[in-house]
Order: sequence, then C-alpha cells, then structure tokens
Amino acid sequence: MPDINAVQPVLSVRNLTTSFLSNGDWKDVVRDMSFDVMPGETVAIVGESGSGKSVTSLSIMRLLARTSSRIDGSILLNGKDLLNLDEEAMRKVRGNDVAMIFQEPMTSLNPVFTIGRQISEALTCHRPMSAAEARAETIRLLEKVRIPNAVQRLKEYPHQFSGGMRQRVMIAMALASKPKLLIADEPTTALDVTIQGQILDLIKTLQEEDGMSVLFITHDMGVVAEIADRTIVMYRGEAVESGDTADIFHRGQHPYTRALLSAVP
Ligand code: ADP
Ligand code: MG
Repeated sequence: MPDINAVQPVLSVRNLTTSFLSNGDWKDVVRDMSFDVMPGETVAIVGESGSGKSVTSLSIMRLLARTSSRIDGSILLNGKDLLNLDEEAMRKVRGNDVAMIFQEPMTSLNPVFTIGRQISEALTCHRPMSAAEARAETIRLLEKVRIPNAVQRLKEYPHQFSGGMRQRVMIAMALASKPKLLIADEPTTALDVTIQGQILDLIKTLQEEDGMSVLFITHDMGVVAEIADRTIVMYRGEAVESGDTADIFHRGQHPYTRALLSAVP
C-alpha cells in the first residue's frame, strides 16, 4: 500500500543520460544519474571540472540546444514530468518551480540597466503588479539577501557592485519567483574565500527562512562540508557514490571520493 503521508521529493531524477552530437556520433557526457532532492534539503553534486555537473543541471532546466543534444531518463519536478513538457510549459516551470544561479553573476546581469530595474522585471514577468508594488518587492528582496542600503543601491548599475554583492543580486532575482528548488552551479567559485563563506551562509539562512530545496554544484569538498545534507560524487559523467555528507566524508569508498577528500585541508 502506498503511504499517502510519505513526503514526495521536490526533484526526482531517474537514469538521466545526456548526449551530444559530435562528428555524427552521439557521445554520452552524463550517464545514468539517479537522485532525489527532498523538500528543504540541500544536495551537493561534487566532481572535478568536466565531470558533467553543469550538463546535469542544464538538462534539468532543459537549457541545452535541442538539435545537438539528447536527454534520456526521467526528471520529475514538483510532480511535473519535465522531459515531456512542451517549450511553453517548460518556460513556466523555469519561471515558477525552479531557479538557477551560476558562477559568474556579471554575465547574467545587463550592464546598462539598474539593479532595481532588473529585479523589477524579474518580478513582473512572474506576476502582474504595479510599479509601486514591484519597487517595494525589489527592496524587500534586496534586504532579504542582506544588501545594505537597498533603497539607494537599487538605482545603481551592476559594475558598481562587488562580485559578492552581484551574486546576492542574482540570488534575489532567483527568489523573485519563490521557487521550490534553487539550482546553484558553482555560485561561489569565482569569489574570494571570505565572500564565499558569506554567500554560503546566506543560502543556508534563506533555506531556513523559506524551506527551499537546493541542488548545489561544486568542485570543492570544503564547500560540500559547509552546505550539503547529502552528497553525490560525480566522476566522468557518472554518480560513483552518494549518501549523507557525513558518511561520504567518513566512509566514502570510491577511489575518486578518497582523492577529493585528500585535497580538503
Ligand atoms: P562540469 O560542469 O562538471 O565542469 P560540464 O557538465 O560542463 O562539466 O561538461 C561535461 C562534459 O561535457 C565536458 O567534457 C564538456 O566538454 C562536454 N560538454 C558540455 N557542454 C557541451 C555541449 N554543449 N556540446 C558538447 N559537449 C559539451
Ligand atoms: Mg560546470
């Protein structure tokens, strides 16, 4: 008998295999990945550069070019079967159910518009609201990501923000749609170590405040220890090991996991 009280995963990935067309052949770069992210949980995918982490997240977001890529398996997000949605429905999912932040926040911000305008536009594309409502909500979001002097700063341009502050702006924009799941693809990799710690603390705080789930992608085991409840170790396109983060740290068996751990100071 199915347990009707059982908590459903926010994200459920089964046998995800992603291939790219290269010289007339399909080449797998992600193979047979299966994992769940439960409500309020942070799951890390950790692996070296080129192991397929970004392709995994872009497959979930369905942001890979259709003509040169193929995604097999199944991806359920809030119960929606993403690989069988049409493009219009998928756009709604990207606007409502899931948001993504990346390594370099500068490239995602428009240099010629103020921060306030960009956040307002992110808000109004999700739901209709007056200019005054959008401004108030923009200030609330900037304060939520702990940007000091929000009222002043919304009139400034991206280049007037430091790298860490820009990443806070990107997180504010991601929160505009109140997503159930945040996919964070190396969001702290380009930042100084102290700023990295501040952004990780912010993500943890937001998660406690909002109960959001996070899929956190990183090459850094130190970051994993900071943030993840559970960890998937990815190597050459495959999940070679997964479990509670503490278990991975203490009892990780795979030689690649051991190698990653030996690099943690
Ligand atoms: P990671 O994020 O773990 O550093 P990626 O997921 O970006 O790694 O890349 C995994 C592999 O897939 C790499 O070998 C990369 O060259 C290849 N790859 C990524 N994107 C594409 C693409 N659009 N077309 C062809 N190959 C790609
Ligand atoms: Mg990547």
